[in-house]
Amino acid sequence: LEEEYETLKDLPCVTQDGYRLSLYVNTGLTADIARSLDRGAEGIGLYRTEVPFMVRDRFPTEAEQEHIYRQQLEGFAPAPVTVRTLDIGGDKSLPYFPISEENPFLGWRGIRVTLDHLEIFMAQIRAMIKASAGLHNLKIMLPMISHVAEVEEALALIRRAYAEIKEEGYDVKMPQVGVMIEIPAAVYQVKELASLVDFMSVGSNDLTQYLLAVDRNNPRVADLYNCFHPSVLRALHSIVKQVKNEGINLSVCGEMAGDPMGAIILMAMGYDVLSMSSTSLPKVKAVIRNISMDQAQNMLDQVIHLTHADAVTQTMTRLMREAN
Ligand code: PEP
Ligand code: MG
Repeated sequence: LEEEYETLKDLPCVTQDGYRLSLYVNTGLTADIARSLDRGAEGIGLYRTEVPFMVRDRFPTEAEQEHIYRQQLEGFAPAPVTVRTLDIGGDKSLPYFPISEENPFLGWRGIRVTLDHLEIFMAQIRAMIKASAGLHNLKIMLPMISHVAEVEEALALIRRAYAEIKEEGYDVKMPQVGVMIEIPAAVYQVKELASLVDFMSVGSNDLTQYLLAVDRNNPRVADLYNCFHPSVLRALHSIVKQVKNEGINLSVCGEMAGDPMGAIILMAMGYDVLSMSSTSLPKVKAVIRNISMDQAQNMLDQVIHLTHADAVTQTMTRLMREAN
């Protein structure tokens, strides 16, 4: 299997009928860079910056962050590297910045924390932009967006940081800025959000959790947590349909993108980029290279109106078997 993956590495992710899909990778550690390049990732679709924050015992300084981010940006240059601002809260806490709440997933999380602590936000943004000097492959992504005003505020801060750093003499370009679509409210304002940003990435993990009101980590309700729930599929489809003509780059970076069945459905819906763990990438590429876009769209047509998640996965399993 490893040998098969080795030959796949340099082959494009293209369907039998010539449809080109981009496969990116999700990273967190520095070690993920080599692994991801090895598996043929075309860019980083989600660099979870909370990971380097979590392995330390205090906030990394701006200079330390610049060094850490530079490794990701340099490792993949000239390919794009999507660096997400700190997404702490929920299940991800920093030992040196405790947050204690009754409903952490509905509380102080992601952009809500960093816009309340501008010193954290600005140090991160400045470090990212400085780290991109001479490379110009930085994309900044904002997590847990539920209000347009959060994007407007973050954008103003990013533009200010960029102007300052340019003034300081760095060879930098204004990075592309994007948002995560992972809160149901954002699904209904996807057009307004699209008019403000350069790209969007759907976080199917949180979107599933919040649409179904099922804690993604609670084993007691684990059977109810399912990204193939018809409502989740409809939300994912609706996002693409709403912004398909807005000229915005649309990706998915949740676990669903790294699942062969999920990847086929998302490609058929029209997502441009799928971002996943490096482990999933060869498997997804092999599946996509084996079918045609025509077949994938046919599969989507057959499952999108089903009423049960089980029916979706059973039908997809059968169709995928028949396609081979
Ligand atoms: C998601 O919510 O789908 C996502 C990619 O982000 P995270 O898993 O880090 O919350
Ligand atoms: Mg998320």
